[in-house]
Amino acid sequence: LKRQLRLGLTFALYSGVTSLALLAIFSWETFPVCFIKGVGLTDFKKTSEYIISLLLVVAMLLLYRNREKFEPTVQRYLILSMLATIATELSFTFYTHLYGLSNLVGHYCKIVSYYFIYKAIIETGFVKPYDLLFRELKLREEELQRANEQLSRLAVTDPLTGICNRMGFDDMLANETRRAERYGTPVSLVMLDIDHFKHINDEYGHHTGDRVLKQLARLIKANIRANDLFARWGGEEFMIMLPNTNLADAGTFTEKLRAIIEHLRFAETGRLTCSFGVTAFVAADTLDSLTSRVDSALYSAKQQGRNRVILREAAPPPTIPADSRVALNPA
Ligand code: GH3
Ligand code: MG
Ligand code: MG
Repeated sequence: LKRQLRLGLTFALYSGVTSLALLAIFSWETFPVCFIKGVGLTDFKKTSEYIISLLLVVAMLLLYRNREKFEPTVQRYLILSMLATIATELSFTFYTHLYGLSNLVGHYCKIVSYYFIYKAIIETGFVKPYDLLFRELKLREEELQRANEQLSRLAVTDPLTGICNRMGFDDMLANETRRAERYGTPVSLVMLDIDHFKHINDEYGHHTGDRVLKQLARLIKANIRANDLFARWGGEEFMIMLPNTNLADAGTFTEKLRAIIEHLRFAETGRLTCSFGVTAFVAADTLDSLTSRVDSALYSAKQQGRNRVILREAAPPPTIPADSRVALNPA
């Protein structure tokens, strides 16, 4: 399985050993006696059968250890074939004469053993050769697919908090706004930024700052619905998308979240507050206009003293005055 078989050399060696054995038996008559008429097999012959069986057991173990390299059915046939050969060899150790039961049983086992080899190699090789050939390829393909899935998951995950990152959020926001547009359902967006987070870093160190970010992410995750999308937008800014929620309800939800955060004591740093911007998607929105609106709401929250929620409605679409004449076809 692991080494290249040198066919010529192997064949020459086997031929050589077989020739020597034949010469030792028939010409030089130096080969140990295996069978004594009327008495049965000699110890040499019996021991040889045991050694052969042991070699087959070792081969079976090796085969089992390398099982991932085989098609399961092929491996099963090979093991069955080896078991049948072991049965053959052991049954031959009871050999007393040519027409004895042990000789009969032994030869039947041999037929069974070769039948399994036939099934494993010939039939599988001819009937389903591509399965064998492409098995390795298929395994690699599956491995690659798993690696790809993991990579795509990592690409949209923020490593610090384990929640969605900006890239993943953009995708989901695009999907959700498309859906909202089609079905006429509301979608709201909340953006939050920790107040004076620089002080936390300065006072307690960046690592503590990281832990605060993680704890805050966990806290927010525990306080949103399963359908809401939550992402780290950057640094210490987070986004929450609330499907099927209008601006007023999003405001109520965000105010509750603001109060929860305000009242929580972080183990290492004590209390902290966040500022929030909230807006709702309208049909005229692009992702850019939607996120800049929520960002400007957040900016206002900071401007007005932090630790507060500011709602921002989209500007109404421009209306054409009733008396204006629109020339559709000036020509
Ligand atoms: P405010 O938002 O209230 O205006 O003040 P601020 O101090 O929070 O200011 P700002 O939002 O501009 O600064 C964000 C700070 O967050 C700056 C940066 O050092 C810190 N920060 C950003 N990302 C990380 C991070 O992954 N880990 C840690 N520990 N700090 C971060
Ligand atoms: Mg901040
Ligand atoms: Mg910030």
